[in-house]
Amino acid sequence: MFESNHQHTLKNRISASGIGLHSGKTINLTLAPAPANSGITFVRTDINGFAVAASPQHVGSTVLATSLQVGVDSVATIEHLMATFAGLGVDNALVEVDAAELPIMDGSASPFVFMLESAGIAEQPATRQVIRVLAPIQVRDGDAFIRLEPCDASVFSYSIDYDHPVFKAHAPIAQVTLNSAVFKKEICRARTFGFLDEVEKMQAMNLAMGGSLENAVVMDRSKILNQGGLRAEDEFAKHKILDAIGDCYLLGHQLIGRFSGHKSGHRLNNELLRQLLAAPDAYAIVDRCEVSPMSAQKAQKPHPASVNG
Ligand SMILES: [Zn+2]
Repeated sequence: MFESNHQHTLKNRISASGIGLHSGKTINLTLAPAPANSGITFVRTDINGFAVAASPQHVGSTVLATSLQVGVDSVATIEHLMATFAGLGVDNALVEVDAAELPIMDGSASPFVFMLESAGIAEQPATRQVIRVLAPIQVRDGDAFIRLEPCDASVFSYSIDYDHPVFKAHAPIAQVTLNSAVFKKEICRARTFGFLDEVEKMQAMNLAMGGSLENAVVMDRSKILNQGGLRAEDEFAKHKILDAIGDCYLLGHQLIGRFSGHKSGHRLNNELLRQLLAAPDAYAIVDRCEVSPMSAQKAQKPHPASVNG
């Protein structure tokens, strides 16, 4: 579906429930079909009239997760579902949730892939457009940075640099050229991660009340606490790519370009999108059929994000 020149939506409505990372409470989530050219809309069924389009301009807090804000109300932790829409090539959908955040599920996008595949994905007659990067954009915060550069495919790379024994022992860098098969095989199962002392601190402030080994990889000062360890050697870097894919899909189109992140997170992702949109010469919105699928191969060349950062 990712490679199609046409827009897609869900075939059927589908519902699931899960725990909210912040509240620790059970949250009900329904995904539903939506008309062509309507994009992704989040509706809070617990607040009369709350509906917000997925867009970089609507992003509110980016602490711990990306949230969309309308007035004083918001819906948080949208990035793993947004990444799933991007990866599976869903252009238009209605997301209904009865709380201020999406359920965290297992901390990855895998349960959302299962939901969308169970609902079915339907082609729509409308032509799909993509956002193509034409000139480099860079955002930086201390030693964290993201570069966005022209490329004929949708390439995401990320490098991690934590002074922690677990990170020194596992692959700190990952890169993918995005399509549906790659998303399902390489990206969707990568879980979010955190440190035990930070989780304890947050829970003392009534934050991350739903956080547990069921929905995150958690480390103490020396090791991973989850039984069974990681799902992949590069699970940490792959999860950061999952987050970046989801955040970038707020643009409302597949991003055709090369994203290289180093130590960056949701806040810098959002700043990147805002800078891109503020530079009309740096991008073009074009029909997907104008993007040659071919040069994707060139994009496979490893590209260490940390060089020349
Ligand atoms: Zn995440």
